[in-house]
Amino acid sequence: MANVKVTINGKLIETDSTRTIIQAARENGISIPHFCWHEKLSTAGNCRICLVDVEKMPKLAIACMTNVAEGMVVNTKNERVVNAREAVMEFILINHPLDCPICDEAGECKLQDYAYKFSQGYSRFGDDKVHKNKRVEIGPRVMFDAERCISCSRCIRFCDEIAGVHQLQFVNRGDHTTIETFPGETLDNPYSMNVVDICPVGALTNKDFRFKSRVWEMSFTESICNGCARGCNIEIGVRNNGILRLTPRTNDDVNSNWMCDHGRLDTWKHVNAEDRITGPMVRKGGILVDVGWDEAMAKVAGELKLFNKNEIAFIGSAFASNEDNYVLARFAKEVLGSKHIDRMSHRIDGGDDALLIRADKTPNDTGAALVGIVPGEGGRDIEGIVQGIRDGHIKALYAIDDDIAQHPELEKVITKLEFFAVHASNANKSTRIADVVLASSTYAERSGTITNFQKRVQRLRPAVVTLERERALDGLTMSRLDKFAAPNDSWGKGPRRDSRASWRIVAAIGNIMGGKFKYMTAEDVFTDITHTVDAFKGLTYLKIGSKGALLQ
Ligand code: SF4
Ligand code: SF4
Repeated sequence: MANVKVTINGKLIETDSTRTIIQAARENGISIPHFCWHEKLSTAGNCRICLVDVEKMPKLAIACMTNVAEGMVVNTKNERVVNAREAVMEFILINHPLDCPICDEAGECKLQDYAYKFSQGYSRFGDDKVHKNKRVEIGPRVMFDAERCISCSRCIRFCDEIAGVHQLQFVNRGDHTTIETFPGETLDNPYSMNVVDICPVGALTNKDFRFKSRVWEMSFTESICNGCARGCNIEIGVRNNGILRLTPRTNDDVNSNWMCDHGRLDTWKHVNAEDRITGPMVRKGGILVDVGWDEAMAKVAGELKLFNKNEIAFIGSAFASNEDNYVLARFAKEVLGSKHIDRMSHRIDGGDDALLIRADKTPNDTGAALVGIVPGEGGRDIEGIVQGIRDGHIKALYAIDDDIAQHPELEKVITKLEFFAVHASNANKSTRIADVVLASSTYAERSGTITNFQKRVQRLRPAVVTLERERALDGLTMSRLDKFAAPNDSWGKGPRRDSRASWRIVAAIGNIMGGKFKYMTAEDVFTDITHTVDAFKGLTYLKIGSKGALLQ
């Protein structure tokens, strides 16, 4: 590797000799069009759209496969290049269907974008296009349209190089070339849907999302997948206040450009689900009845006052944010003086893979422990709490954001409790038993932070609006608004649930019981955490930013 100086479009660039022209240009803010080249895959060099003019080279060179060299002078937009690009676009478009009005990729399609930018705007081809298979179920979660495929091979290389499975290959020759799965195979691996993201056209589409929305009618909010302890960086796509899809966001320290199919498909449907808890409820005459927040919170405070501190236990949640867990731990230990506090584990033995997937199926076990969801000195852990309920020492239980009644031992004893309050976003086993159900917001409806297994703190941002948030936005001045919480057209007429962030519910109950919680926002709670928990010292939401920050 040697340092070299090259000139691209008149701009002098210092780089090293391992870089290709496309990499050096990109790293210096010069964009060269590309279909087949992908920063995280090997180079195929087959689409030819990245042709550039290199001084002293007789022919145009493809920028993705030509390394820079000392003194190289490159032009990416002179007449030779523009003509060549138009010719490449003309070839690619010869057999491409005019599908954009019904294609899911429209609005985020490289071919569509480049057709506007780099093609002549008309076709000289008058014959019939080659017809190929459409609506091919190439895998359980991905559909293939062979007519739209431009044979870039990104999907094949993804399977071979990233997913580590050899499931796709080209077949046939010339304009009959297409992709197929190997005999007996389908495109079925834990990461198969990443090919939808990297396909530069609409040839591979997400079966779950296709035809649900035009992408320009959606909003996209940066957040973190809640499917496991990796915390893959994602964008949440929303229309009419309902989530329609998750896509990965690049973060080389966490998930590179990828996410798993489980995270993409199974971690957000509960946000839109019919079984949402839409507001607080109190059990009256054996039946859960909708009540206002004041009544529900007064009920919890009134009931908890009836027990002494050793009779009350708390269960935090590795699904809840650092902020939620921190306020719960303070409430338990400082306001009520209970030492009995812990969280449930959702670890699947042997569940780690070599790419992203973690055995711990919660997003924030590390953070929950750090901010205080661990038994105080002499306090009970989960097993101790179960035993305490069984032998009658624990009489009241307060749990947040986890279906604790699924715990096989807890399930057997939970009905012995004299009082059980739970925060939940959806109906579950615990809400069927609880005396008070407090409607908590999902990860997609609130601000906050979670801490992944690497001890990287990352930001959750609200993508879906709740009644609470909408009212708060009405009342707040713009200076108090998180820029990601600004009113958003994509909320549309979709449902607003009367749910609240768990930290806010706990703080309000804590204040009824003599606590002094003065938090207005999740950021206020986080600031408090940075003052009291050493590992978080010096951090701010601003420092965490889009890519997260490692704890000390
Ligand atoms: S299906 Fe998409 S990613 Fe795969 S070769 Fe065709 S255009 Fe490329
Ligand atoms: S690896 Fe984990 S965090 Fe990443 S997408 Fe899958 S479930 Fe979500």
